[in-house]
Amino acid sequence: MYYILSMTIFKNKDDLFKNISFLKGVGPKLSKYLKNKRIEKINDLLWHLPYSSTDRSDMVTLDKLEPGKIQTIKVRVKRHNFPRIRNLPNKVICEDDFGKIDIVFFNSRENYIKAVLPLNKWVLLSGKVNYYKNSYQITNPDYITSINKIDYVKKKIPKYSLTEGLNEKSYRKIIEKVIMNLPDLDEWYDNDTLKKFNFKSWKESILKLHSYEIDNDLNNKYRRRLALDEIMSNLMVLSKNRKRFKETNKKNKIFDNLIAKHIVENLNYKLTKGQEEAINEINKDLKSDKKMFRILQGDVGSGKTIVSLITSANVLETGFQTSLMAPTAILAKQHYNLAKKIFEKTKIKIELLTGKTDYKTRKKILAELKKGKIDLLIGTHALFQKKIEFKNLGYIIIDEQHKFGVKQRMSLAEKGGKNCDVLLMSATPIPRTMMLTIYGDMDVSRLLEKPKNRLPILTYSKPEKKIDELVKIIKKDLSDNNQVFWVCPLINDSQILDYSSVTKRYEWLKKKFPSQTSILHGELKQDEKDLILEKFLQKKTKILVSTTVIEVGIDFPDANLIIIENANKFGLAQLHQLRGRVGRGSRQGKCILLFKDNLSKNSIQRIKILKKSSDGFLIAEEDMKMRGFGDIIGFQQSGDKFFKIADPINHADLFVYAENYLEKIENDNLEKFDFLIKLYDKAEIIYSKND
Ligand code: ADP
Ligand code: MG
Repeated sequence: MYYILSMTIFKNKDDLFKNISFLKGVGPKLSKYLKNKRIEKINDLLWHLPYSSTDRSDMVTLDKLEPGKIQTIKVRVKRHNFPRIRNLPNKVICEDDFGKIDIVFFNSRENYIKAVLPLNKWVLLSGKVNYYKNSYQITNPDYITSINKIDYVKKKIPKYSLTEGLNEKSYRKIIEKVIMNLPDLDEWYDNDTLKKFNFKSWKESILKLHSYEIDNDLNNKYRRRLALDEIMSNLMVLSKNRKRFKETNKKNKIFDNLIAKHIVENLNYKLTKGQEEAINEINKDLKSDKKMFRILQGDVGSGKTIVSLITSANVLETGFQTSLMAPTAILAKQHYNLAKKIFEKTKIKIELLTGKTDYKTRKKILAELKKGKIDLLIGTHALFQKKIEFKNLGYIIIDEQHKFGVKQRMSLAEKGGKNCDVLLMSATPIPRTMMLTIYGDMDVSRLLEKPKNRLPILTYSKPEKKIDELVKIIKKDLSDNNQVFWVCPLINDSQILDYSSVTKRYEWLKKKFPSQTSILHGELKQDEKDLILEKFLQKKTKILVSTTVIEVGIDFPDANLIIIENANKFGLAQLHQLRGRVGRGSRQGKCILLFKDNLSKNSIQRIKILKKSSDGFLIAEEDMKMRGFGDIIGFQQSGDKFFKIADPINHADLFVYAENYLEKIENDNLEKFDFLIKLYDKAEIIYSKND
């Protein structure tokens, strides 16, 4: 049995959410070490599962010591040996009826040693045995305690990943206290669910996972129970948020598609069915008296921008203002140019505001926004961090939203006041099983087809040493009136990283294509960037050597060849995004991936997927399988720690189950899930200041 008696340390179950320092024996120093392990509240300990166990049950007499093994011994202290020479360790010689052993201490003070190992006293020790210069030793034993604690030490003990300042002994004192005092919680699942998965209670599952009996196996029923708990809590939070938006009354927008019609008639293409449907869905939301919170999902090149502009035309028709935001200044500028063009013959007043807008212009824009003299404001996401006053903002559109997490989305949804509808746009292909888990707080419109004139991009791979062949290929493309992107991972050459840089590649290409080559990266000034892109857009330059800043959204209809160096460095989803920069007109797009010589099996597999498929969803799924969920483009940056226990790949069936289960119980009293939501740390997302 555990040595620490089950004295009640929790007065009620909510104590689980108290700071870790609430626990006896956890002072500022230990708190700090625990914080390094992301353990701040008591319940954080629960998700920090052991990965293995240490077996201390091998208790032997001193004639049975085995070097290399962890053993537990009962011995009497015979002699202290504290050498006066620096760097020599302190030693305590111990014995039993069968033999002798040296207990060796590095970095321990004499007084401490004398206190824990007084002469002639019988003690219990546990640690790794070794054999050195003809004697058995244990160096810095893991346990030195009195012999009546034999049941506490002589056993299998769960092994946690610990950091500096935390050892098994000190961590055990904390975790065991918590585990032994876990409250019994009312079951939140119905019997069918428990039976189907053979689930045990929440408490039993936690106890089992924190015991030595269980390996850190993702697929045991205890782990799966907690995974479902976590998935459910996530879905519930999102669904609660969704309901909250649905209950927000707003002034409905009444319009006759006047400007929108004019725009559509003047497009030099026909909208796809998907685009038309998305526009209808959005229009319906705009007209309703409930606030819209919708995401428009569509692979790169599926034509999201025009959907947002056409719907904003309707909002503008009602006299409400609209704000469209993009992640980068470059993209904002491009949206601005497009908007200028399509609203050309209307009275709509459009302005561009980015971090690089000069002070005077900015001031003027802000004043005009407040007076309602600007109808459509286009800018960077950063706009939102600043306080901007609109006269009557009615529509916020966020392009490439994948960098926002749930919390940011929440604050976004509340920005602009209750009359303001919100549309997010994302090209991040989310595997179907994850859709609700990630976007369950929003309504979703999807563009599943690409414009008909689009040919799938041909993808090739080449070893770097054949780089000279590319010159010929580029020449051919240029003579076909195409433009070329050349992407490198770095801006400047690095001493540490063996990746190519845009500066070096630019020099190299410039020699071969003088006056046609330009360079772009994040460190350039805004006006420089604008100028470069402007020139490229006007086809004054033909080759753009760039970092991944071209990744998001920018649209150059004549760019039909993209070359990506060190393609290994990028994730599949990112490569897919990058190649989506070409072939956006009606001509054939080509993508050449350059690799170092020796490709790993994994890399070969990755290229195969890219070559085979132009379906962003499939690629995302494969990417997820190969690199794990965290690597899906954007989710690292979102700041959401998505799951502590659940694993989107191994627990895919549970994600599906949770969705159906939530649907089934949606009309029941869901209060019993409140504690679960708190347990998984999602509560603050729902119970925000507006409640
Ligand atoms: P994304 O969904 O990646 O943001 P964009 O909105 O930038 O895609 O559109 C990519 C390109 O496709 C643009 O040049 C745009 O003018 C064009 N486009 C959009 N819709 C259509 C369509 N229905 N038919 C043909 N081209 C279209
Ligand atoms: Mg876009």
